[in-house]
Amino acid sequence: MLSSLTIAQAHERLKNKSLSAVELARSCIERIESVDTSLNAVVHRNFDRALEEAKKADKKGTFDHPLAGIPYLAKDVFCEEGVPTTACSNILKDKDFIPPFDSTTTKRLKEKSAVSLGKTNTDEFTMGASTETSCYGVTKNPWDRTRVAGGSSGGSAAAVAADECLFALGTDTGGSIRQPAGFCGCTGLKVTYGRTSRYGVLSMASSLDSIGVLTKTVEDAAIVLGAIAGKDPLDATTGGMPVPDYTQTLRKGVKGMKIGLPKEYFIKGMDPQVETAVRAAAKVYVSLGATIVDVSLPHSPYAIATYYVIVPSEVSSNMARYDGVRFGHTVPERDSLIEYYERVRSSGFGDEVKRRIMIGTYALSAGYYDAYYRQAQKVRTLIKHDFEQAFENVDCLLAPVAPTPAFKIGAHTGDPVQMYLEDIFTAPVNLAGIPGLSIPCGFSKTVTPSGVGELPVGMQLLGPQWGEEVILRAGYAYEQATEWHNKRPTLS
Ligand code: GLN
Repeated sequence: MLSSLTIAQAHERLKNKSLSAVELARSCIERIESVDTSLNAVVHRNFDRALEEAKKADKKGTFDHPLAGIPYLAKDVFCEEGVPTTACSNILKDKDFIPPFDSTTTKRLKEKSAVSLGKTNTDEFTMGASTETSCYGVTKNPWDRTRVAGGSSGGSAAAVAADECLFALGTDTGGSIRQPAGFCGCTGLKVTYGRTSRYGVLSMASSLDSIGVLTKTVEDAAIVLGAIAGKDPLDATTGGMPVPDYTQTLRKGVKGMKIGLPKEYFIKGMDPQVETAVRAAAKVYVSLGATIVDVSLPHSPYAIATYYVIVPSEVSSNMARYDGVRFGHTVPERDSLIEYYERVRSSGFGDEVKRRIMIGTYALSAGYYDAYYRQAQKVRTLIKHDFEQAFENVDCLLAPVAPTPAFKIGAHTGDPVQMYLEDIFTAPVNLAGIPGLSIPCGFSKTVTPSGVGELPVGMQLLGPQWGEEVILRAGYAYEQATEWHNKRPTLS
């Protein structure tokens, strides 16, 4: 099946003309049409336009850039001119919001002649760890459809794992690329805050949101990152540092590299099969010539509490723009503007979004700002310092992505705190603004409807600020030495 090719493989074939961009796009479209009814990963389909774009790429025929003619899907928070963008929220789905402009990321991909197939499912405004808060319903895990695909970029992860596209865009505010990549057995790259532009991506928590990619291999992640990274005059938080050619440095190997294992990331209560898989990966690194050292990130236990004060605070401010006046959901006119806002927002937003708006408004209020928000910002700095200190002694860190493999649909829906704990190993990385790469490192045995099944286990490599090169290099070396990334779920 052509849609199961990696970007690098497809590029070779497009270039030597043994494959056309239209054939490749068609293969993805057919795959989406045959498997997505049961997965629910794709929420907006853009097939006619995709075929037009593919035709154009074929006509040009040069395929100079590795992304030329490559079909992809974007999480439904990336504005794309003329394509519905709803953040999987009723507040924008009602009267489909159709942006008149492109996000910087989709614009950069367009410039490289990549082919956009449509949009993927996400938790409402990316708040969640399972896609269960999406107004389109949950995305099912391709390995076991009674389980979640993770979240919030669950649609993107499931789509990549099920070969519905060659790569997908995601966002990661507290783990939303890495955790679903781990749950679905694909590669997920969360970049340094400011490495990619947030312009035109619907915000959740602006000081943590980062734009990244889900792919089938580490090499593919390096290819896409090279195309989307770099300073953007439309996002003042992007950094001006040059964008290296990530695909060139990949092959340098890990000989002499020092990799830290943070002891706070191997905790009581985590699935022993996850711990075993990550520790086995450390042994693979030793066999490749790296040194493993134990490190400590002492403020890690405070990360979830810190994250869940800062994020709702920023959410409460970012959600204020959805007021039923400028776009999206409306209600019949009322006597007072305040009443109108109340009715629009209470009927347009789902429970998790409302919960965060309430917590955030409280944490930012005059009487409680010092007690909660200011304290959380101080602890955030301590967490960042922990990482900085660790990177004085090691090149990168190796840790699990999540304490368990994919959980059952509905397992945490009645218990938001249990859902928040899903982010225990991922959220600290966003608080520190550093990059993280999630890659498959094994399988855990679980009971499935048809007997004993296997679920992917993910590990993450964490690097210093702007250190995408080092984690991609370490990820690539591991991938060359193992076979986990080649495994695919069987889907009828
Ligand atoms: N699960 C986290 C949350 O709900 C992360 C979300 C994200 O990264 N977008 O906040």
